[in-house]
Amino acid sequence: MKSSIQRPEDSFKHQGMRRKMIADLQAKEIGNTRVWEAMLKVPRHFFLDKAFLNQAYSDMAFRIGAGQTISQPSTVAYQSAILDVVKGEKVLEIGTGSGYQTCVLLELGAKVFSIERQKELFDKTGPFLQSLGYSPKLFYGDGYKGLPAYGPFDKILVTCGAPFVPQELVDQLKPGGLLVIPVGAGEVQQMQRIRKLQDGSIEQQTLRDFRFVPMLENKNWGD
Ligand code: SAH
Repeated sequence: MKSSIQRPEDSFKHQGMRRKMIADLQAKEIGNTRVWEAMLKVPRHFFLDKAFLNQAYSDMAFRIGAGQTISQPSTVAYQSAILDVVKGEKVLEIGTGSGYQTCVLLELGAKVFSIERQKELFDKTGPFLQSLGYSPKLFYGDGYKGLPAYGPFDKILVTCGAPFVPQELVDQLKPGGLLVIPVGAGEVQQMQRIRKLQDGSIEQQTLRDFRFVPMLENKNWGD
């Protein structure tokens, strides 16, 4: 399918800005070598409105439509690193948004399943990623429910702020699997890294504070 999105070129200037973005992440020790290599391959400026072209590689979140934002590069690097993706793993992402994080997971070798609840973004992101040569499995639906028919997953990554840890997502983890989710009822969330042990019990680590757009509940589809 052809994308209706006008994609800019990946010029030397943008490649240079991307290398600088990665160098900054390295200096701050956010991410790891595999994640930096993956992020180097994904032209972040393709995922933003033309108006932001020159800021595309600064450590900022930007509006992507439907009141949502593309996560900051440092957040993508951080979450990708603690998710510890191994090539070939089945990863469920909640909150496709622009598809930037989705592509980073694909570049890490994951088989990615991603859910988005905003129809406008779901409709836009699928054909756009296709046009870049990426083929994740994208779903329009409710991240709180996960994808029981496609699970269980090795890893689950939530890219919106959840008021609590949805049990459905924990249930869809394989034994030994990891769920990375920012949790908090207000504007600030604490990153949680939750491991399901072989006996099915849970080990939970609370990490740094972040600010994500909220993981919304009880949305009437088609609104
Ligand atoms: N990973 C995205 C981040 C987008 S922001 C990127 O790199 O661009 C978080 C996304 O989560 C938004 O697109 C928002 O619409 C979506 N979201 C919010 N609540 C959700 C839910 N219950 N299920 C699925 N997606 C949800």
